[in-house]
Amino acid sequence: MKVGILGGGQLGRMLLQAAANYTVETFVLENDANCPSAHLCHHFTKGDITDFETVYHFGKNLDAITIEIESVNVDALDKLEKEGVKIYPTPAAIRIIKNKIIQKQFYKEHGIPSSDFIITNNKEDLKTNTHLLPAVHKIGEGGYDGKGVQVINSISDIEKAFDAPSVLEQKVAIQKEIALIVAINEKGATAIYPVSEMMVNPVLNLLDYQLSPALIPEKALWVVEAVAIKLVKALNSPGLFAVELFIDKNEEVWVNETAPRVHNSGHHTIEANHCSQYDMLWRIILGYPLGNTSPILPAAIINIIGTDNYSGDAIYEGLEEVLQIDNAFVHLYGKKQTKPGRKMGHVTLLHNNYQDLTHKANKVKNLLKVKS
Ligand code: ADP
Repeated sequence: MKVGILGGGQLGRMLLQAAANYTVETFVLENDANCPSAHLCHHFTKGDITDFETVYHFGKNLDAITIEIESVNVDALDKLEKEGVKIYPTPAAIRIIKNKIIQKQFYKEHGIPSSDFIITNNKEDLKTNTHLLPAVHKIGEGGYDGKGVQVINSISDIEKAFDAPSVLEQKVAIQKEIALIVAINEKGATAIYPVSEMMVNPVLNLLDYQLSPALIPEKALWVVEAVAIKLVKALNSPGLFAVELFIDKNEEVWVNETAPRVHNSGHHTIEANHCSQYDMLWRIILGYPLGNTSPILPAAIINIIGTDNYSGDAIYEGLEEVLQIDNAFVHLYGKKQTKPGRKMGHVTLLHNNYQDLTHKANKVKNLLKVKS
């Protein structure tokens, strides 16, 4: 079977690593010939995943296509789907998720709890809706990894706001940020991974470390799982979806956003769950039964991020010490150049005791530095 992946970043790389267990011929489309996936696929094409002709020509002789990022040319995927290429998830589902305005409207239409919002066309619209403040302003399309999201606490913050079609949504009083991955196959059967809990670095707006399974009250867990399943079923597409949610201070559950693909919050599933998210997506694409999502041991993920003030050829300080820690699994993405805040890899830690897990996560964070 010939399967294409749009995007050649670290998620694509891990998908390709999992593909080695299956009889599948892999194709990657990505603009950067030195991307993390380029040397792991069978066929690499250098090209723009947002360009209609490029995506269409890449896909027209393939059996199936999946994505590792949602900023792809959906019109080309529509045409390919009509011509018989299987797309995971469907172009219709990608279209809903790709634009945060459409995504929020979809939640509203389907009774999925998500914070109240208005749609703003430009910066001027913010000035006429100041009663919603404090709020979070999210650009409709083009945002990624915290870029494209602004907290607007007061009128004085409006000046620095994006001047583009956006969502202005009520700020949730967050108690916990969580995520969970749901797999759904062609027959509509679902498999749900344990919930993960994020610890966010407020300066970089990037994940600090993550624990899984999350320690959340049982009642909230039931709601989270029910909401995630309802959401994924409403998208009406086979594939793998990562649902990010908030639990607020009153233990109410709110969907933040959904990713229609393998996701950073599921990196640990490689070592920590019987079937990884990457393996699961191949099972869906190849028509095999869904895998076992149960955890083997609790896990932490620590992102390896470019240290401030260092740019250039990457050097990993502390790597030897980290590799000596029991059940520490280091994943480097093969990016040659580091810069402040750049995601260079991650470490997964496994331990049966949460206190030890947190302790080791902090140790890894302090030991491992990306410099140049
Ligand atoms: P991205 O798509 O860039 O990951 P998110 O929509 O996940 O952006 O937002 C990034 C972060 O901003 C979230 O992890 C959360 O900490 C914060 N955030 C987003 N929406 C809200 C909200 N409605 N209320 C409070 N905080 C929010």
